[in-house]
Amino acid sequence: MTMIENQSKSRIKNKIAIIPYTPEPVCPNCHSVLDVIRNHKKFQVNCGTCGKQFKGCAGFLDLRTHSDRYLSLNQERQKAERLAQFENQESLVGLTRRYYQMTADVSPMRRERFVKHVMESEFRGAALLNRIPQNRTILEVGSGTGGFMASALLAGRNVTGVDIASRWLVVARKRLMEMGFDHPLPIYPACAERLPWPDHTFDHVVADSLLEHLGNPGIAIAEMLRVVKPGGTILIWSPNRYWPGVDPHVGLFGVGYLSRSWAEKYVAWRRGEIYWPESRSAKGWAKVASESCHLNEVHYQGADFSGWPLRDKSRRAQVARLLGRLSKTPVLSRLVTQFGPVGEIKIIKTATNSYPSDLNQSEVWS
Ligand SMILES: [Zn+2]
Repeated sequence: MTMIENQSKSRIKNKIAIIPYTPEPVCPNCHSVLDVIRNHKKFQVNCGTCGKQFKGCAGFLDLRTHSDRYLSLNQERQKAERLAQFENQESLVGLTRRYYQMTADVSPMRRERFVKHVMESEFRGAALLNRIPQNRTILEVGSGTGGFMASALLAGRNVTGVDIASRWLVVARKRLMEMGFDHPLPIYPACAERLPWPDHTFDHVVADSLLEHLGNPGIAIAEMLRVVKPGGTILIWSPNRYWPGVDPHVGLFGVGYLSRSWAEKYVAWRRGEIYWPESRSAKGWAKVASESCHLNEVHYQGADFSGWPLRDKSRRAQVARLLGRLSKTPVLSRLVTQFGPVGEIKIIKTATNSYPSDLNQSEVWS
């Protein structure tokens, strides 16, 4: 048995854990209340106001309005359904491996690295959770394989997750069910640019490694501002362009110091023609947020990892906790902001920055 399998086995719980009541989703198109009929995990939903229809996907209520850049909505649904067929017979590790086996362009070596990354994502999730005050409702946009969701639910927090990839949510569901959480889980396939909740629903919104994957991150930030309550915060983590270590998406050093056109040539030479998201600094993301949402104030800093769980003894965890301590030191915190691996932006919703109404969202339905 490998270390990953051992770690995985020790996490499986036999008790049923309680999930707090979470806000019900509405129509992502017109924000009307949906009449959801659940029938043996199948969904049949019509919006009585705008007429949009929503169906089930791999046991989830699918509230997406468009697909991600990798797969069409139909292809994505099929992949999630195929993965879900293995859900009962596989562990979290096994299911994650199955996923990468279905993904042709991932080599066996990269596959194991990605599997390890998925297994360890709860630690990073716990560090992010540590940044959010207790006793508040949280929405995670881009909840992926559920690392943050798992940490939050284990801590008894009221958390809801959305992701554009229902295939990832199948993995997230496996993770949560291994921990003893049961249906219905508060996770939904939905788009960051069209969140299925009314205005002022959540106390906090978080997103980790999301913005860099979006075609129009400004619209997603505006949506987060819309669904968060006045006085609530939006906390966003994203890989830092100027981190001198390897780029998390392409695994190469120094990519962020090149102009985009040179970086593209370099990545194509080393990795072939692959799509990879462009990282920005925390300051860069703060600028995107303030310009696209007309905000006067966006705080930015290096991500504060000081809440990284002590039970993670890896080198990565030690570096993360050290960076966490440095980020609280007056002068060194600037270095962490400039060169740390992850940047953080924080927006507090005030009465004046509720959300800009002039951001017209392009409609994409497939
Ligand atoms: Zn509607």
